[in-house]
Amino acid sequence: MKVLIIALFVLLLIISLWRLRPYIIIAREFWRFMREIKDSQNAARARSSGTERLLRCASCGVLIPASRALVGRASSAIFCSRECMEKKEAL
Ligand SMILES: [Zn+2]
Repeated sequence: MKVLIIALFVLLLIISLWRLRPYIIIAREFWRFMREIKDSQNAARARSSGTERLLRCASCGVLIPASRALVGRASSAIFCSRECMEKKEAL
């Protein structure tokens, strides 16, 4: 008898979780969305506060923020522009 009650309880739990599934999915999507907003705000803050790392162009030597740096195809060196990359990698 005890086993039957437990089985019934588990069945009810499964059914209620199944019915709540769309809401759980919506809640999860909402939290992911909020986290993405927070991440993008943190990234924007890092950019605007000047804490972003500066890298030196391997061709002309100018300093550029890491987010705008181009990585060379052949050498994995850092470049400020496509022109610099092509000039250096053509050598
Ligand atoms: Zn350059």
